[in-house]
Amino acid sequence: MLDRIRTTHPLVYRHFRALDNGGEQLGSILAIDRYWEQLSLPVPEVLLDGGKMPTGVPVSGDFDIVYAGGTLGLLHAAVMAVRYGWRVLVMERGEPARTTRDWNISRGELLRLSGTGVFTETELDSLIVRRYRTGWVEFHASQERRKRLYIDDVLDCAVDADRLLGMAMAKIVSTPGSRIMGRTSFRACYRFDDHVVVEAEGHDGVQLRFRAKMLVDSMGIVSPVAMQLNGGRPQTHVCPTVGTIATGFENADFEVGEILASTEPAELSGRGGRQLIWEGFPAKGEEYITYLFFYDRVDSPNDKSLLNLFETYFRKLPDYKRPGAGFTVLRPVYGIIPAWSHDGSGCTRAVSDDRILLLGDAASLGSPLTFCGFGSMVRNLDRLTSGLDHALRAGTLGRDSLAGVSAFEHNVASMANLMKYMCFDARTDEPDFVNELMNEVMIVLDGLPPRYRQAMFRDEMTLDELATVMLKVAWRYPKILAATWSKLGLQGSAGFVKNIAGWAMATSTGRR
Ligand SMILES: Cc1cc2nc3c(=O)[nH]c(=O)nc-3n(C[C@H](O)[C@H](O)[C@H](O)COP(=O)(O)OP(=O)(O)OC[C@H]3O[C@@H](n4cnc5c(N)ncnc54)[C@H](O)[C@@H]3O)c2cc1C
Repeated sequence: MLDRIRTTHPLVYRHFRALDNGGEQLGSILAIDRYWEQLSLPVPEVLLDGGKMPTGVPVSGDFDIVYAGGTLGLLHAAVMAVRYGWRVLVMERGEPARTTRDWNISRGELLRLSGTGVFTETELDSLIVRRYRTGWVEFHASQERRKRLYIDDVLDCAVDADRLLGMAMAKIVSTPGSRIMGRTSFRACYRFDDHVVVEAEGHDGVQLRFRAKMLVDSMGIVSPVAMQLNGGRPQTHVCPTVGTIATGFENADFEVGEILASTEPAELSGRGGRQLIWEGFPAKGEEYITYLFFYDRVDSPNDKSLLNLFETYFRKLPDYKRPGAGFTVLRPVYGIIPAWSHDGSGCTRAVSDDRILLLGDAASLGSPLTFCGFGSMVRNLDRLTSGLDHALRAGTLGRDSLAGVSAFEHNVASMANLMKYMCFDARTDEPDFVNELMNEVMIVLDGLPPRYRQAMFRDEMTLDELATVMLKVAWRYPKILAATWSKLGLQGSAGFVKNIAGWAMATSTGRR
């Protein structure tokens, strides 16, 4: 497998060849890269009417909820099984509880998982493999225009993601009637009036069928269910991200997290261009995590391939962190972080259907501004699971009632909309646009109490906090008004205003 990229991606080849599972990792990266081809294929039909179900394959198990996708789905399934007593089946096409990423979060946020009654504080504390003292954000600019903003208690705990998921998995399998199946791929879901039948392919290619009250789609960005429900356009924006967990940097500070950092202006290529951004987090022992990513529109002309971004990562890494003679990559981390721009007063994306609920990246309701798919799940898990338990008991599993137990949050939707300013557009932006804007935002945040920066980077902003920051930035940096026109246009600006109006209405009535 690796020989295929020996000459096209020599740096990826060199570093992946040294890994035990380099070929497997490459296969998984190429599988994610196929997402872009899928967008031009006919919309998949995986949610089908029960009447169309071919006969001949027996049902091999009865459950209350079938989950397709075993990453964040495992956290939700653990609560539904352990706390609420529902029989769950989690099917995962790969190895369950094995991620291609690692998670950072603050301790206070992580401990919220104990509120579900499924994880104890001691268990959750044991997952924190490193806690750093403080973190900063800094964007490239001349010395006098650059503002390094320090932020405490934000993304400052490195969590062992696989161990957290393994813990959830152990709790699920110890619950009578629940089950986890690895190497099992979701294929289709047939819907009947009072149940669904989920069709899957087992590791040996055998067709399997399971009956349940409903299907929870937690298949992430590649979900065919999200694709079908959203007419083949399940995301409006993305954040292609690659990186490594490695040892042997000469200048890594293990006391400080680098939450966002840029080292150069946007790079121009072909008709497009992208503002590359780094992150650096100390992890377990001598390990240090670095990420390279960029914010983008799904329909931009930019190259979004993770494999190509990995080659860029290895080429540019020395400009950000100096790999020493003993530099060793332990594990690559990668993925496409999804986003949806809600140009309306509430949730404008399909995140449910009759007997179907979308979770995690399949629902795309997090804000990618600070990597928050995991954060969004942690923040909302209690509400999402109690809401679904209620719907199951009441038998209200229609599209509209299930939409009410999604992770949609008005403030996060507005923040996700601001991501448009982070997407460099070669047609309208100067190469320094994103850097300049972010330095102005950091200067404004520096002049406000710490609560503002923490709220912004933890997706907890209130409407008046966001308005204060936006007005101050516009006052200092009037270019933002022209940028608003070029990036949002009439429709996007109207959508953003509706977003804010929906948020104001929800705030005044005490709703979420
Ligand atoms: C490099 C990186 C770092 C990140 N760091 C952070 C962070 O620090 N903090 C934070 O809050 N968020 C972070 N995120 C975001 C977070 O990781 C995601 O939001 C989260 O992983 C989404 O989980 P998910 O289960 O919805 O989707 P995924 O993680 O994509 O998992 C989906 C699962 O479904 C399985 N699957 C797919 N198709 C099928 C099928 N047909 N049948 C069965 N199974 C299937 C996949 O194999 C996969 O295991 C990061 C993301 C990346 C890429």
